[in-house]
Amino acid sequence: MSKVMTVNSGSSSLKFKLYEMPEEKVICSGNCERIGAADGIFTIKYGDKKDVTYPVFKDHAVAAKLVVDSLVEKGIISSYDEIKAIGHRIVQGGKYFSKSAMFDADTEAKIESLVPLAPLHNAAHLTCFRAFKQVLPNCPAIATFDTAFHQTMSPVDYTFPIPYELTEKYDIRRYGAHGTSHKFLAEEGAKYLPGVKNPKIISCHIGSGASITAIENGKCVATSMGLTPLGGIMMGTRTGDMDPSVFNYVCSVTGKSAEEVYQMFNKKSGFLGVSCVSNDSRDVFAAAEKGDAKAQLSIDLFNRRIADFIGQYFVRLGGADLIIWSAGIGENEPRTRSGVCALIKDALGVEIDEELNSTIHGKEALISTPNSKIKVVVIPTDEEVMIARDAYDMCIKG
Ligand code: ADP
Repeated sequence: MSKVMTVNSGSSSLKFKLYEMPEEKVICSGNCERIGAADGIFTIKYGDKKDVTYPVFKDHAVAAKLVVDSLVEKGIISSYDEIKAIGHRIVQGGKYFSKSAMFDADTEAKIESLVPLAPLHNAAHLTCFRAFKQVLPNCPAIATFDTAFHQTMSPVDYTFPIPYELTEKYDIRRYGAHGTSHKFLAEEGAKYLPGVKNPKIISCHIGSGASITAIENGKCVATSMGLTPLGGIMMGTRTGDMDPSVFNYVCSVTGKSAEEVYQMFNKKSGFLGVSCVSNDSRDVFAAAEKGDAKAQLSIDLFNRRIADFIGQYFVRLGGADLIIWSAGIGENEPRTRSGVCALIKDALGVEIDEELNSTIHGKEALISTPNSKIKVVVIPTDEEVMIARDAYDMCIKG
C-alpha cells in the first residue's frame, strides 16, 4: 500500500486528493481557494470529518506547504515521506504528450513552452508543481494531460482550414480537453458492451465546461473542443463553435478590443450570455419554468448543440453502441438528458426510460430501454483516479 496525491491547480486554487494505492481508496481530499487573495479558504475532508479554515495563501507555495502540514497535523500521514508520488493534472500538453509523463526538466520545459496556448492553466500548474517540489523535494511526480487522450485523432479531424503555414509554424490545431475524463468514461463504458467488436462510444462530459468525444475501440477519433476549451458545444459561459466572423463583427460594432471580446466569449456567453440569468443550468431551468423566454431559448440552444454533435459523431463513427452522460450536468440533470435524447430519437432510434432517468442524480445507471438502438448510460466521471493510477504505475510499481 502506498499513498499517492493528485493535484489539480487553477490560477487561484489547489485541489488535492490523497489515495491509498493500488486500492484506489480516497483517504482525504481538499481545496485551497482564493490563493493570492486576503481571504483564503481551506477545506479538508477525511473520514467523516470536514474542516474549513480561512488562512491567507500568499501563493501556491504557501498552499502546498499548508496541505502537507495539515495531513501530518491531523494524523492522516505520520511524515512527509509517506507520500510516495504526486500526479499533477495539466490542461495543455500540446503535440508533445499522448500519455502521462514523468515531471522532469524536459516535461517542465515543454509545459512552459505551451503557456501561450493555456495562459492561466499551464502557468498555474507549473507554479504548483514547483511549490510541491519545494515541500517534497524527493517525491517523484508525473504530469497527466487533459489533451493526451485526443492525440490519436487523424489530421482530418484536428486540422483547421486556415493557411497551412500557420498550422505548421504555430501548431494551430484541435487539441481538445477533458481527455482524462473521456478516457475514464470509455474504460468504464466498455463494460456495457461485452463482446462488441470495435465498440463505438459517444462520451458527453457536460459540466460548466463541456465536451463530446467520439471513441472507437478505446481511442479518441474526434472531440468537440478545439485549440482551447472555447470550441465545441455551448457551455456555462463559453460560446462553443460559431461563425468566426462574429468575433470581428462584435469588435467592430462595440469598439472593444480583441482581448475583451475573447474574454466575453469565454466568460460572459453560453448559458449566462443567452439566458441573462446565470451560468448555472439549475438557475436557468428555474427561470425557464417561471416563463422566462431567454432562459428557455438558452436551454433549447444547449440541447440542440449537444444533439448536433452526437449526430455528427454518429456519422463519424459509422454508428454508435453507447452514449455516455457525465460531469455536473450530465450526471445530475435529467432534463438535459431527456431533452437531448428527444432530439436524437427519430434519427438514431435512441429511447430512454424517462421515469428512471428522472431519478438518476450523480450515480451510474443504464437509462435506455431494451428497445433503444444505442445504449445510454450515466457514469460519474473520476479524473483524479486516472491520475492516481498513472502516478502509482509510473513512480511506484515501476
Ligand atoms: P466544471 O468542472 O466544468 O466546473 P462541473 O462538471 O462541476 O463543471 O459542472 C458544474 C455544472 O453542473 C453547474 O454549473 C450546474 O449547471 C450543473 N450541476 C451541478 N450539480 C448539479 C445538480 N445537482 N443538479 C443539476 N445540475 C447540476
